[in-house]
Amino acid sequence: VTGFFEGVPAAPSLELGFATPGVNRAGWHREDADWQKTALLRPDARIVAICNDIPVLAWDGAALDPLFDLARATELGPASEALFVGLDGDAPRFALNVAPDRFEALKARADLKLIDMRSIAMQGLFAGGGESMIGTAKAMFLWHARHRFCSACGAASEQASAGWKRKCPSCGAEHFPRTDPVVIMLAIRGDRCLMGRAPQFPEGRYSCLAGFMEPGETFEDAVRREIEEETAVKVGRVRYQQAQPWPFPSSLMVGFLAEALTDDIRIDPTELADARWFTKQEVREVLEGTHPDGITSPPRMAIANHIMRAFVEMEG
Ligand SMILES: [Zn+2]
Repeated sequence: VTGFFEGVPAAPSLELGFATPGVNRAGWHREDADWQKTALLRPDARIVAICNDIPVLAWDGAALDPLFDLARATELGPASEALFVGLDGDAPRFALNVAPDRFEALKARADLKLIDMRSIAMQGLFAGGGESMIGTAKAMFLWHARHRFCSACGAASEQASAGWKRKCPSCGAEHFPRTDPVVIMLAIRGDRCLMGRAPQFPEGRYSCLAGFMEPGETFEDAVRREIEEETAVKVGRVRYQQAQPWPFPSSLMVGFLAEALTDDIRIDPTELADARWFTKQEVREVLEGTHPDGITSPPRMAIANHIMRAFVEMEG
């Protein structure tokens, strides 16, 4: 099978934000509350903290650390939720959602920094594990915050399975955390690819097209539909590239290369400010920051950058 998997990475790029699993989720411990209590007290247990959707980081004046020991995590304040994140080797990892009314007090402390998730990822502060753990915690706690009531009967629900689901005490329904898939893709026609800019993009930024999947669609259907809706370009074959968790609030970006069958572009002005074809050489310049029109790409932590790179590196 060597040939079959040729060119396919065995693990996500360390540059891709949120994508590198830092821990083994060890889901078999989720139902075992006694094990979790003991694990939390182990000297090698560490805890990441979120408050008001913002990661809380230890700051010693020189370096940031996303991991707290139990004593330091406890003094951050009461937790509204807790999550067993998994095992780093043998060392247990947990996450706490610190009560939101502690936010201003934590922000005022000199030994802490509260840095939003986007900035953490853009600066690659904890690439290679920590970032993915904080991203998971942030997505999970926001899900808890927005799903306090049973969607079947309306009663207040309770967290269960070490934070990985909610249960309704009234009707017994179980509710699981959601992941919202977004297809993100580069349509290719010969030596050119189709990129667009959304109205909210920074000046000069072009990127892959993207859109949420809808119920009843395959990934390929969603890729074809989104490209045609946004640009009127028709698409044939669709090939999976790679994926990236995107905790804003809980998306999974699923990346594709797609075969464009037509040239003419007619943009949907509600979705895009512009879309145009770029030659491979131009995309290379965009990635290197040397495009003559000053066009720029999304940063390397974003999957769009990696899909553009895959196009540039394609042969033929
Ligand atoms: Zn219910």
